[in-house]
Amino acid sequence: MAIIRVALDVPLDCLFDYVSEETSSTDIGLRVRVPFGKREAIGIILDVCAATQITADKLKPIHQLYREIPPLPHDLIELYRFCNRYYHHPIGQVVMNSLPALLRKTRSVTCKPDGVLLWKLTSIGQTVGIDTIPARSKTKRELLRLLQQNRQTTAAFLGEITPHTRKLLRELVASGWAEETVVSRGQQTTTVTTAPAATAEQAEAIAAMTAMANQFTPWLLQGVTGSGKTEVYLQVAATILAQQKQVLILVPEINLTPQLEAIFRQRFPASPLISLHSGVTDNERLQGWCQAQHQQTGIVLGTRLAIFTPFANLGLIVIDEEQDSSFKQQDGLRYSARDLAIYRAKQLDIPIILGSATPSLESYYHAINGHYKHLRLRTRAASQARLPAIRCIDLRIVKAQEGLTEPVLNALRETTAQNLQSLVFINRRGYAPVLLCKSCRWTATCTRCSSRLVFHLPARQLRCHYCGYQQSVPSACPQCGDQDILPFGHGTQRIESALINHLPDARIMRVDRDSIRRKHAWQAILTTIQQKKVDILVGTQLLAKGHDFPNLALVCIINPDASLYSADFRAEEQLFTQLMQVAGRAGRAETPGTVLIQTEFPHHPIYQALMRQDYDHYAQQMLKDRQAMNFPPFAYQAALRAEAPVIQDALAFLGKASAASQNRHSKQIQLFDPVPAPMMRLNGMERAQLLVQADSRKSLQHFLTDWQPHLVALPTGSKLRWHLDIDPISL
Ligand code: ADP
Ligand code: ZN
Ligand code: ZN
Repeated sequence: MAIIRVALDVPLDCLFDYVSEETSSTDIGLRVRVPFGKREAIGIILDVCAATQITADKLKPIHQLYREIPPLPHDLIELYRFCNRYYHHPIGQVVMNSLPALLRKTRSVTCKPDGVLLWKLTSIGQTVGIDTIPARSKTKRELLRLLQQNRQTTAAFLGEITPHTRKLLRELVASGWAEETVVSRGQQTTTVTTAPAATAEQAEAIAAMTAMANQFTPWLLQGVTGSGKTEVYLQVAATILAQQKQVLILVPEINLTPQLEAIFRQRFPASPLISLHSGVTDNERLQGWCQAQHQQTGIVLGTRLAIFTPFANLGLIVIDEEQDSSFKQQDGLRYSARDLAIYRAKQLDIPIILGSATPSLESYYHAINGHYKHLRLRTRAASQARLPAIRCIDLRIVKAQEGLTEPVLNALRETTAQNLQSLVFINRRGYAPVLLCKSCRWTATCTRCSSRLVFHLPARQLRCHYCGYQQSVPSACPQCGDQDILPFGHGTQRIESALINHLPDARIMRVDRDSIRRKHAWQAILTTIQQKKVDILVGTQLLAKGHDFPNLALVCIINPDASLYSADFRAEEQLFTQLMQVAGRAGRAETPGTVLIQTEFPHHPIYQALMRQDYDHYAQQMLKDRQAMNFPPFAYQAALRAEAPVIQDALAFLGKASAASQNRHSKQIQLFDPVPAPMMRLNGMERAQLLVQADSRKSLQHFLTDWQPHLVALPTGSKLRWHLDIDPISL
């Protein structure tokens, strides 16, 4: 009779004890169904022991042990325990929320990869003559011939697979002429690409990384946009895959996966690849998860959650666009997938590549002080591609009409006339960000949030971009009755219609979250752009990230000034990154690129740095500022946040929390006053926060570990919610 300790999806930081007759310590990591209160719950066994403090009459037997999939690997359980300690988040919620949805249900599952059989010719198979097979085995000869033509093939190419052909294929495998593997659906690729000759810089990076391919090494691969970072990932991955190890590639958002997926599939047709992101079905995610655990897959491509995938033999982690804020989860377990990836790489003693044109200041700082190895790609890879010329248009001198200046319109006209593409970047969707009454200055605001409502066409609706609230446009000002209420400022829709007026012959397409709501819309948009069926794109940051548009020659950035003087010390870093990224879309192939920025502050250091495309100089400047102000990466932060129907309650809770801390007078810890959040109301709740700062990660963690039980013990009203956010990225 063993006592098993189970992680359950409840907000208490403890394991729950049960008895089980059939369990031993090798069952740690298995799923169990247990009685919990009046209901049943599903959980994961994290510990098996001989004794418990629960009295015998309260100790209950489990209802069922599921053995249909093998236990979660030890290193994944270690990762859960790390998240529990580091993020101060209940262990059961860490574990259960990282699992595929089907494993969280009180049901058994079947792991049968919904795969396709693939046959590959071996090197012996390449040399055997067809005549080795007796002439009467016509089908077998035909199969070998097909394989020798295609090197590898799936059932689709072999016609119908009858039990007879299946048997013949098995004979080919038995003779050592072919290999049989299972690949996931969609894997069958018809085009296979080979590696281009690496540029000198790429070759240097690849050589450095492959030389240290079997040990923990964090690499910062800092390469300008278009420098061919992907090619470096591919060639390092080739070495790892050749050692029969697996590769995990994390990307910031789901829209970037199809392009990268195609590139990896075509380069490694024989390595099964799976994609894990919010767009896959529950069953696909489960099957992908099982395949990774059984090493039926060589490459896992995914968004942040993929960091919790079990691997049989992981050999390399790549994080593309490592600075991207979407690697940080913003609710529940507020983890940073980038930081967890570093943890996993260290734990498994494998290399990790952080790739970016504009690294996060944290990673950049680690690289310049030697914690990470720093590799640079300073030039664009494709032989003719140059970095674009960047110019500011001073809005104080050159007036804009309908948001657009004459130089921008002229450049758009010229580019269109040359049959090249342009991108007009404005990071605000909708028609206008403000609806304003001319007589009394009333503006339309959200009733649930402290935000303005955005005016949207063609529905003529006002929408809140934070909570989704919407209403129709009032016919008169609700405050003074005046009918002269007007949209103010510019969004993508308004710029789009201005462009239609100015360039009636150009083919214009708007790309923002409103226009890609339909499923597969994104793929259709990419195809339209690639087939040159559009001249001018009007878009938000959706278009800024990572995509390679070879025909794009001009990028116009409309009014980026808004976030220059923000209260959040990271806003400027984020703006710089974003502008470097958008600018980097221009001139990626033969077409030289131009970037025009409409701004009222052309002399601001951010635009000066951008014009010189000097990330390093600017980053070093920002680091100096951060150091002077004692902000990350020179300090370590945690935010305690509370929300309640009225702000006073949230602030009062934080005040009590502050008073409950034992070491708040310690020198290593700085506890700031509770303040309302920059966006105070959200979705009907009012929010406040308290920032804790320390000189080292260790002293911050010590403090939080002491503080946590006091926080849990604090009385709260029924409507108050609070959470801790470790290494917060937005304040
Ligand atoms: P990044 O991710 O660094 O912005 P990409 O990986 O998208 O850059 O590469 C930019 C372009 O350069 C792509 O079209 C890619 O095919 C091409 N490219 C990369 N490496 C080479 C190379 N060694 N030779 C020729 N073209 C290359
Ligand atoms: Zn009014
Ligand atoms: Zn709202």
